[in-house]
Amino acid sequence: MSTLLERPDAPAFLAGTKLLLIDGKHVPARSGKTFEVVNPATEEVIATVAEGDAADIDLAVSAARKSFESGVWRSLPASERARIMLRFADLVEENGDELSLLETMNNGMPRAFARSSVAGGANWLRWFAGSVTRIYGQTASSAVSAPGEFHVYTRKEPIGVVGLITPWNGPIGTFFIKVSPALAAGCSIVQKPSEVTPLTALRLGELALEAGVPAGVLNVVPGFGGGAGAAIANHPGINKISFTGSTAVGKQLVQASAGNLKRVTLELGGKSPCVVFDDADMDIAIPGAAMAIAANTGQVCFAGSRLFVQRKSFDKVVAGIGQVLQGLKVGNGLDEDTILGPVVSAKQRDRVQGYIQTGLSEGAEIVSGGAPVDGKGFFVNPTVFANVNANMTIVKEEIFGPVLVATPFDTLDEIPALANASNYGLGGGIYTTNINTAHKLAARIETGNVWVNCYSMLDASMPFGGYKESGWGKELSADGLDAYLETKSVWMKLS
Ligand code: NAD
Repeated sequence: MSTLLERPDAPAFLAGTKLLLIDGKHVPARSGKTFEVVNPATEEVIATVAEGDAADIDLAVSAARKSFESGVWRSLPASERARIMLRFADLVEENGDELSLLETMNNGMPRAFARSSVAGGANWLRWFAGSVTRIYGQTASSAVSAPGEFHVYTRKEPIGVVGLITPWNGPIGTFFIKVSPALAAGCSIVQKPSEVTPLTALRLGELALEAGVPAGVLNVVPGFGGGAGAAIANHPGINKISFTGSTAVGKQLVQASAGNLKRVTLELGGKSPCVVFDDADMDIAIPGAAMAIAANTGQVCFAGSRLFVQRKSFDKVVAGIGQVLQGLKVGNGLDEDTILGPVVSAKQRDRVQGYIQTGLSEGAEIVSGGAPVDGKGFFVNPTVFANVNANMTIVKEEIFGPVLVATPFDTLDEIPALANASNYGLGGGIYTTNINTAHKLAARIETGNVWVNCYSMLDASMPFGGYKESGWGKELSADGLDAYLETKSVWMKLS
């Protein structure tokens, strides 16, 4: 049997050591170190990647700073910057087969999911390309001076050099959610993808160059959190960090950024509630709640991992979700009919399996799933727990796998206390046919995103971000662009 790398469609990109992309050139790490990248469906090593650390981040920051100061990007006419971003989006789509193949081989996600990440990324680029020509300051009437005494206005200016640190669960999506507004604002970038999934970011860096993004504007430096990641957080030449990852690391970054008071945007973990009322359309609610926890094998920051079902429907909904989950085709994401790929690594599989054991030992009851999956690949059985209480570890902590905890409730007024009993506040789902229930509850759930009769919707036009310990600031939308801009007030005395 041939290995994946011998497949006729195996990307040529995987051949040879993948180097860092700094100042428009492929370069080895200064240390000469490399690390291996594994396909989680087969446990096969698929690439060897240069391991950036502090010395390489220094080089990347210098290149980014030089490009920023020279104005090769930020001082281009806005329409020209937009044109290059649109060309980048076209190239992303034209290379979509290769990108989605790399994403599936590296992260394990089903190919269809990877394709939609590529399409989504191209759309986000286009939306932000459209905003480049619509960056406005304001004029104001001074409250204290006579009319005509001063001319006052604000300017929006790019923040400078930005460090963009991304996780492994959605490498393409988290790349574009940060790179698109950063490019639109005119910033220069040092991007560090996760050490677990560095491949697509490196390829996207090449496509950006091909599209005409000048050398040094988008530098991609794979490496580990404690090496390249910490070096970005501590670097005095970086003006802003945008980070997606765990809440624990997010808190460390806040402290590390204090040195030069970097601006910080954080997209962190979640333990999102999904609420099903008796009056819900169960043909929508049951598969919707099932996929809210199963999509990307539960490795989604806003996964609907805490299910609340109105008591009369509890048994039916929980059994229905179990049935949907057990019916999902598990397998290698490269098989077109796979819905549930592996989790990303052996470490992640063991972590999820460990939580399932903890749930049992704390007295929760498994309604479906639970058993470990034998054989090659880091697969996990989607699992639903009932008989849980708010003090249980599996109810409080983010598992980041396909594990759902289900609790019954009686009235709408109970839900805010139940749903908001979490340090996190990222996503929330409501399934009901009563418009009053939907709006009343949407206002009382303490999360940055609420979906009614749907789940996981994202769009470039809508702000995305978390309340509480799920993050700081917003991505996507005009708010997401503003996070890469400084506002300058200009006062001009007229005589
Ligand atoms: P992680 O926090 O371990 O790593 C994320 C990134 O930070 C990686 O690139 C890693 O190398 C880097 N990093 C680790 N330690 C660092 C340090 N000390 N300094 C600087 N960088 C460091 O997270 P992960 O395991 O890759 O991803 C899973 C987590 O990400 C989950 O908690 C998930 O909820 C969260 N996430 C959040 C969102 C969101 O939008 N809110 C989206 C995706 C994932």
